[in-house]
Amino acid sequence: MAILVTGGAGYIGSHTALYLQEKGEEVIILDNLEKGHEEAVLGTKLYRSDLRNEDVLDEIFRAHHISSVIHFAANSLVGESVEQPLEYYDNNVIGSYTLVKKMVEHGVKKIVFSSTAATYGEPKSIPILESDPTIPTNPYGETKLAIEKMLKWADEAYGLKSVCLRYFNAAGADPLGRIGEDHTPESHLIPIILQVALGQRENIKIFGDDYQTEDGSCVRDYIHVMDLAQAHYLALKKLEETNESGIYNLGNGTGFSVKQVIEVCRTITEKEIPAVITERRAGDPATLIASSQKAKEQLQWEPQYPNLEEIISHAWYWHQANPSGYKK
Ligand code: UDP
Repeated sequence: MAILVTGGAGYIGSHTALYLQEKGEEVIILDNLEKGHEEAVLGTKLYRSDLRNEDVLDEIFRAHHISSVIHFAANSLVGESVEQPLEYYDNNVIGSYTLVKKMVEHGVKKIVFSSTAATYGEPKSIPILESDPTIPTNPYGETKLAIEKMLKWADEAYGLKSVCLRYFNAAGADPLGRIGEDHTPESHLIPIILQVALGQRENIKIFGDDYQTEDGSCVRDYIHVMDLAQAHYLALKKLEETNESGIYNLGNGTGFSVKQVIEVCRTITEKEIPAVITERRAGDPATLIASSQKAKEQLQWEPQYPNLEEIISHAWYWHQANPSGYKK
């Protein structure tokens, strides 16, 4: 039996695919390589196709004994989603709809879905619990929430069981340096800061320092990408054992401001890393910090790399060895 990983050539997908294989699982990857990288696919078969291509999904489900799906393939940038909401509805919602439709047709009844803290919007209280209200402040979060709801109804109607994992800020890289984080253009905080450290950018722009936080910059909960990978594996195991759907937050429960993250990067890289304050970025909540008690208790999830220094060290190790990312 194999696990289909959609978006398995992307950042979180590729780390999860690697982790699953290390646990002895057979993995098949579907990725259109729009954002993903062929070089990030290690030791497994890659179908290069868009999720909305029904024929390719039919082909995969016919050719392999797929027991379950882990679904990452999506557009995932908050700022971009505010500017191009229809792109997000098309790729994320229609893509997931096509996948779920084909799963139902082919009798595949287990899915782990890559969701996000952006489903909560501006939180009423911190840390955020899974039972808190979900009022997204941007189309990215809105599309992920729409997919969660589609999965809930698909469970009721067709018995398709799902675990939705709401990630906080994924960061870091494979500790052995085999794969890492590479987006073009890069928009995520830690890789951008490391590009400044490598001399590829002049400075890091802090998007607003007038938020209601201790130092005025936004606070986020950074979680190691390999700890996210572990959670996907455990979520699948839980689905296999209990056949029960669920929603789980994944974070470390500790918040770091943009300014604090820059400071830690300065320490790790031993570079100056100039920073400038600029305008706020559209759609950004001030503070996002997870309660992950539920995942710890019910999935037996235990983050291995909770420390921000270690997360940034692993990212720095990969960025130093691959200063142009996957491009040789
Ligand atoms: N951020 C920033 N400058 C940048 C990129 C990001 O100040 O060049 C901030 C951003 O506003 C947010 C935090 O860093 O508060 C994390 O942003 P990122 O895009 O990495 O992840 P997101 O929170 O959007 O998932």
